[in-house]
Amino acid sequence: MTCCGVDMAMAQPLIQRLCIIGVGLIGGSLARALREAGEVGEVVGCGRGEDNLQAAVRLGVVDRYETNPACAVVGADVVVVAVPLGAIGPVLRTLVPHLSPTTVITDVGSAKGSVVADVERIYGMVPPNFVPGHPIAGTEQSGVEASFATLFRGRRVILTPLAETSATAHELIQRMWGLTGAEVIDMGVCHHDAVLAATSHLPHMLAYTLVDTLARLDDRAEIFRYAAGGFRDFTRIASSDPQMWHDICVANREQLLKMIALFSTDLERLAGAIRSENHAEILAIFQRAKRARDNLYLE
Ligand code: NAP
Repeated sequence: MTCCGVDMAMAQPLIQRLCIIGVGLIGGSLARALREAGEVGEVVGCGRGEDNLQAAVRLGVVDRYETNPACAVVGADVVVVAVPLGAIGPVLRTLVPHLSPTTVITDVGSAKGSVVADVERIYGMVPPNFVPGHPIAGTEQSGVEASFATLFRGRRVILTPLAETSATAHELIQRMWGLTGAEVIDMGVCHHDAVLAATSHLPHMLAYTLVDTLARLDDRAEIFRYAAGGFRDFTRIASSDPQMWHDICVANREQLLKMIALFSTDLERLAGAIRSENHAEILAIFQRAKRARDNLYLE
């Protein structure tokens, strides 16, 4: 149907009512991006702290909010669960009796095996309208005040649909993330967790441990005073939210422990080369790493 030359079907936003549970950095940035794209009608926020939710209304990130997830999801086409991993199971449990069968649910959790296991425990199966997801974008900041509309632009969003995931629900979540300017790709759940353990979870463990080790030295004040740009770059992610990273460690325990073991072996090999003054071995490690790092962004 057309009206004044405008195709009315085209004028409808992709999502009429979006519910974001956890209006923080990720949930808030998604809401902002969809609003900027003009592809969302009403945005309903949900969280525990009213200060953050009031800020979300003030900043125009959400239209209104509820503190009870069961009330927040009423009438939503899409529900995005953007809370820390440890809270995803409890939040989903409160939602089950209140969701319409047509509501599409997705999450943004940084590990996917634990989310799928939570969903299976709660629903007895993974419902066709549940699409697990993970945007590979973030900063070390938290809360709605840190959110911004371009966070996902040019970044990747991984969806890990299952055999039982409905094609319609999958397509809707693909289109939703596509509107943020992200490249949306599909991946298996286990593969996702193995890849992210290596590329994101291990580096966070290294940054936290390095800063913690140095911060407990007697001459820490002197050490931090002379910390140069390299130290700042390397340790920026140690400012990330400790609770969030606690939850990620627990959720992706097996894959993360494998990567920590591998890294510990390699670090010990480097220590051995330094101890035995094996110059060739030290240089070989550094040259291999430099080649790999220099080529990292060329693909
Ligand atoms: P965030 O800024 O701290 O936001 C989390 C939000 O969840 C907060 O607004 C918090 O508000 C709310 N929340 C926490 N526990 C809750 C509960 N039990 N019930 C309802 N709301 C709750 O964190 P974020 O960085 O957006 O991370 C959110 C999710 O995105 C996590 O699962 C994380 O793994 C994933 N992720 C993060 C990044 C990143 O770099 N930050 C990247 C990709 C994916 P209240 O405390 O007021 O409830």
